[in-house]
Amino acid sequence: MSNKEIPYKVYLSEDEIPKEWYNVRADMKNKPAPLIHPGTHKPLSVEEMEPIFCRELCEQELDNDTRLIPIPKEIQDFYKMYRPSPLVRAYCLEKKLDTPAHIYYKFEGNNTSGSHKLNSAIAQAYYAKNQGLKGVTTETGAGQWGTALSMACSYFDIDCKVYMVKVSYEQKPFRREVMRTYGADVTPSPSDTTNVGRQILKEFPGTTGSLGCAISEAVEAATSTEGYRYVLGSVLNQVLLHQSVIGVEAKKAFEKIGVKPDVIIGCAGGGSNLGGLISPFMGEKLRGEADYRIIAVEPASCPSLTRGKFVYDFCDTGHVTPLAKMYTLGSEFIPSANHAGGLRYHGMSPILSQLYHDGYMEARTAEQTSVFEAAEEFARVEGILPAPESSHAIRAAIDEALKCKETGEEKNILFGLTGTGYFDLVAYQKYNDGEMSDYIPTDEDLEAGFAKIPDTGDVQF
Ligand SMILES: *Cc1c(COP(=O)(O)O)cnc(C)c1O
Repeated sequence: MSNKEIPYKVYLSEDEIPKEWYNVRADMKNKPAPLIHPGTHKPLSVEEMEPIFCRELCEQELDNDTRLIPIPKEIQDFYKMYRPSPLVRAYCLEKKLDTPAHIYYKFEGNNTSGSHKLNSAIAQAYYAKNQGLKGVTTETGAGQWGTALSMACSYFDIDCKVYMVKVSYEQKPFRREVMRTYGADVTPSPSDTTNVGRQILKEFPGTTGSLGCAISEAVEAATSTEGYRYVLGSVLNQVLLHQSVIGVEAKKAFEKIGVKPDVIIGCAGGGSNLGGLISPFMGEKLRGEADYRIIAVEPASCPSLTRGKFVYDFCDTGHVTPLAKMYTLGSEFIPSANHAGGLRYHGMSPILSQLYHDGYMEARTAEQTSVFEAAEEFARVEGILPAPESSHAIRAAIDEALKCKETGEEKNILFGLTGTGYFDLVAYQKYNDGEMSDYIPTDEDLEAGFAKIPDTGDVQF
């Protein structure tokens, strides 16, 4: 298909919504390291995980071999409400940048939660319902995950308890109200409703909270309440599996127009959108069938892939979770207070960590003022107000397109536009008022985080 014929939006039909998730682990030679018990350092079994997570999700977490996993009919039906998501050719941005590159983005913000997180929330709520559970607990930072999960839980009529990082609870009252509208019970974290919350409050009075701390509270609430389990919106293998719908759809859409992306870019917090977007492309790369340049973009203020250590670490501040082998800044690392752009998590998906470690993808950082600059440039020509998180990917896509302008290369660039920024207007306000600053942690800052990484000796799997 010639360039001229490629439409602004490549839509798939309802019938083309994926019916199977693609499990990239099946094609990885070096599998991601298993979650291990913090006491025994032994890999967790399904039985050990079951008190925390839904049964079926434990199976998915440990399944390194099944390439395609059928999506239950109930989840497929829910996907029809907001999928397939469009693959958009960013003609206006290309024109503005005057680049020969062809820029595409896969837009996941077309649902009330405003992000890709609904793809996994609905799956996790379904398995909880199917198991006969009463409800689930979780944490939320910026609020997208909590919103997505409250939508999913109300659809399947189960309870949803959300521990929301205190700074977001206060800065994003509207997110909180969306969650409550969908019936969720929302608590600012750290709170005095859990042991771990009370402990953290005692040790750090006045703390504005962190994702790691909210996770500890949510896990405690789940394991101490009958009929509840804990669910997580990123990082875990099961979440990347559910998010593969993004990549499977994107690949199908590209096949329709007879184009192959050369560069695939995504923002990386815990790694779920990037992992989902790249999965089927990475599969081809791992099987030696095709090659793609894959770039993860993270905030300069929370640089887990680019400056972290690839070791076993806790997934949360309160140290109630299993240990995951991942690129980490240490579970007690908290980005500086001026950081407004999301992607605050200290670690990274074990799958992406392994792929990065093995050289299958690149990673880079972006400073937040340059991220908001890219967001503004994108919004003004493409119309969509992007989430700050997504704007890390926009930054890198623009930079790659500008490189093509210098070299004259007509590369196909794909990036994940994970969501909208309607609830991030405090951050946009800071940027618009010229009050946004950048902070790059010093090596000493990072050492303080590394010092809290548990010593697992030389456990190898
Ligand atoms: C949560 C979120 C992210 C980051 O999470 P990942 O698990 O790294 O994908 C990115 N963009 C948006 C809009 C989000 O809500």
